Amino acid sequence: MPCYGNRVHDRSASSGRTSRPALGETASEAGLRRIALQGVTPAELARAVPAVTLEEARRVVAQVHRDEDPRTPSSGVRRGSREAVAVAGWVPELEVKETRASRIDPFVKYALTTADGHVVETVRIPLERSGRFSVCVSSQVGCALACAFCATGRLGLLRNLETWEIVEQVRVVRRGLEGGGRASSSERVHGVVFQGMGEPMANLDRVLAAIDVMSDPSALAIDARAITVCTSGLPSGIRRLAREAPKVRLGMSIGSALADTRRHLMPIERSHSLDEAIAAACEHASLTGLAPMWAVTLLAGVNDGVEHAHALADRVARFRDATGRSPRLSIIPYNAIGPAADGAGDPFARADGDREQAFRDALRDRGVFSHRRYSGGADVDAACGQLAARG
Ligand code: SF4
Repeated sequence: MPCYGNRVHDRSASSGRTSRPALGETASEAGLRRIALQGVTPAELARAVPAVTLEEARRVVAQVHRDEDPRTPSSGVRRGSREAVAVAGWVPELEVKETRASRIDPFVKYALTTADGHVVETVRIPLERSGRFSVCVSSQVGCALACAFCATGRLGLLRNLETWEIVEQVRVVRRGLEGGGRASSSERVHGVVFQGMGEPMANLDRVLAAIDVMSDPSALAIDARAITVCTSGLPSGIRRLAREAPKVRLGMSIGSALADTRRHLMPIERSHSLDEAIAAACEHASLTGLAPMWAVTLLAGVNDGVEHAHALADRVARFRDATGRSPRLSIIPYNAIGPAADGAGDPFARADGDREQAFRDALRDRGVFSHRRYSGGADVDAACGQLAARG
């Protein structure tokens, strides 16, 4: 756990979009830096390849996201423009190492191998409406933040994912849907949640660029309001998300509203307290008009006591006073992450039903309503907290 005891720096702040990573960050076989075409918006493509007009770039991007070869003639794209795109760009892939469908619910976990041999995980989540799915994407290989209840946190941070590698996860899931998940087919990707491996606010340039592509009508055409970015609480990232992607929803992992317990569960508390994170979330809500989602993973004997519920109710009340909105509170049952690398057993156990009910009752008595999140795919290690690229 590389970050225990260390200060976790918030690198998510930035002066703006000009700091986004340069296009063509992916090396081709020839060692040249070429544009990963599924990772750019039409405007970015037209800027990067001056021979291509914006309208042509829209058509090329649409072709790429229909899984067609962009070198194939298409109406409205001149031959010279096609050739320029073929020289400047390519469509790299993540290899599907394994697809594991849960036997107990319709969740599917994908293990995807990057060109440099890392494995990242992505989960297909069924939504209430039949044929609609959300995709839980990873933003980093591993994670530096070392939350104690999360399998990814045990890996440490290996690297950030590139924009196209984030977008490609959605494309892989979409390909597995009936009719390839096209707008006209009965199955479709409706939303995306950044709650897979990694802290998205620690790779925010690429996460924001990926959101631009996901929501672009020529690309994946996912409504930005159906995209949620979940953070352990990096304040400047929360503020930047509000400024640069104001339609996107915010999710926050609380751990515990009692600082000592939170420090133990989430080392980020040592550098950015829950109060700081909530202050940023208040600004987010005021700027965007969106209520955030707050998530608490209930751990038996650790954060499931009524004193934790009361401290949480205090925070909710303050948030409400400041913004006029209530956070949507998700109670997540703990999903086993197994023994640690040193052989020590699973550090936590799921809070039993009575304790969970008492916790939720204590909240309700203070006027705070919560829902129990169904966290599916536990039999294939696809549930919340379980993503660790174990294959
Ligand atoms: S919960 Fe999120 S931020 Fe915490 S270690 Fe896991 S991936 Fe990282």
